[in-house]
Amino acid sequence: MRTLLDLILPVECGGCGLPGLPWCPECASVLDGPPIRLRPRTDPGVPCWALGPYAGPGRRAVLALKERGRRDLAAPLGYALARGLHRLRAPGRPLLLIPAPGRAAAARRRGGDPVARTATVAAGWLPDCRMAPLLRSRHGTRDSVGLTPAQRRRNLATRVVVRPELLPALSGTANPQVFLVDDVLTTGATATESVRVARRYRIPIHDVLVTCGT
Ligand SMILES: [Zn+2]
Repeated sequence: MRTLLDLILPVECGGCGLPGLPWCPECASVLDGPPIRLRPRTDPGVPCWALGPYAGPGRRAVLALKERGRRDLAAPLGYALARGLHRLRAPGRPLLLIPAPGRAAAARRRGGDPVARTATVAAGWLPDCRMAPLLRSRHGTRDSVGLTPAQRRRNLATRVVVRPELLPALSGTANPQVFLVDDVLTTGATATESVRVARRYRIPIHDVLVTCGT
């Protein structure tokens, strides 16, 4: 099947362009070490971690998944996320993954939210782990590309909202360790707003883990 598909749409590594497979072992190794502690300019008040730097193969892979329709990359990036979560989780405690809110319109255009997709894959690899897309961006949030950090904060202010219809589903998980997960963390504005909004609904986000961070 892979060979047949290769004839129609040649597969290449989403990190380095190597032909023949979607994600090569060398690129995988970039996201495979212990998560890196981040110190974003806008501090969400909880520990922030990244699987790797916002550079090189990791950066190319998250952009390919987000912007170029490389949905096949959700599988290896989700697996890498699961490994990072495994290293950071407290033993014996259930995990709850909340994807950082994407822009709904952009997600629709791109055929689904890549962050939620990656988080779903990660949850599938981990025992006692659930994914709940509890946060969304309120309609009208501008794309943050090209905005200054201050503009970005204003753009996000009060724009992250909880999806109350999903709250009852959480009552089944006792005292989970809650991770906000995202593809990229740069200024920390989205994470800070997400942590703040979730707290208002008594959802304490304990850590932020992203694929790539600076
Ligand atoms: Zn590669």
